[in-house]
Amino acid sequence: MKVVFHERFHEVYASDPAAAPGRMEAAAAPLRGVYEFVEPPPASDEDVLLVHTPSHLDYVKRLAKVYPIALLAVGGAIKASEIAMEGEPAFALIRPPGHHASPGSSWGFCYFNNVAIAVERLIRRGLIKRAVIVDFDLHFGDGTSEAFKGRSDVEYRHLPATGFIEDLDAFLRLRSYDVIAVSAGFDRALEDWGGLMKEEDYREVGRVIREHAERRCAGRRFAVLEGGYNHEVLGRNIKAFLEGLG
Ligand SMILES: [Zn+2]
Repeated sequence: MKVVFHERFHEVYASDPAAAPGRMEAAAAPLRGVYEFVEPPPASDEDVLLVHTPSHLDYVKRLAKVYPIALLAVGGAIKASEIAMEGEPAFALIRPPGHHASPGSSWGFCYFNNVAIAVERLIRRGLIKRAVIVDFDLHFGDGTSEAFKGRSDVEYRHLPATGFIEDLDAFLRLRSYDVIAVSAGFDRALEDWGGLMKEEDYREVGRVIREHAERRCAGRRFAVLEGGYNHEVLGRNIKAFLEGLG
């Protein structure tokens, strides 16, 4: 298991909860010394255009503080996907998040759809034919859903509030895929906005994904950070998820 991280993710690029000071420090602290950290290069505009419209790219470019960090976040998701293709699981500890970024617009603290770009890039390069994207953030990833609307090669699944382990297990059992990508949002946590998921639940979700990946797609799996806003518990819950996923 590798953690993909860049020191520039400490920069406060906006005044929203995903960009809040101290969030990345809190998330990274329990992972340091446990997992190897690797630094991603920034993504290119060409990578962004795999999913987004030129006008959306231009909109983000005009947000001078956001744009360079958003390119690093996409680069982090891409790096994690590349590590996964080598058979090693990876977690992109990145911000801004991405699952509310549609091809032509974005909201909810998102700018570029990190996970969608990473998956689309693997497909366009001929490295995979099919993928599933599992999302356990509190919020539905409308951007990811929109990015792959009408496509049969990429299926997006937002886990329900209850029975999510059974739902995840059934979903992964019944689909075929070459990689499992995960939008890992931690705002469903018991002590976060959702008040739903315990530390053990995150470990179990990770474990179910690992088992299916090992059985069905040569172990190829990667996850990217989406939401998660209680700094007191974010790192602990990420660590539990990675213990299951790894
Ligand atoms: Zn969320």
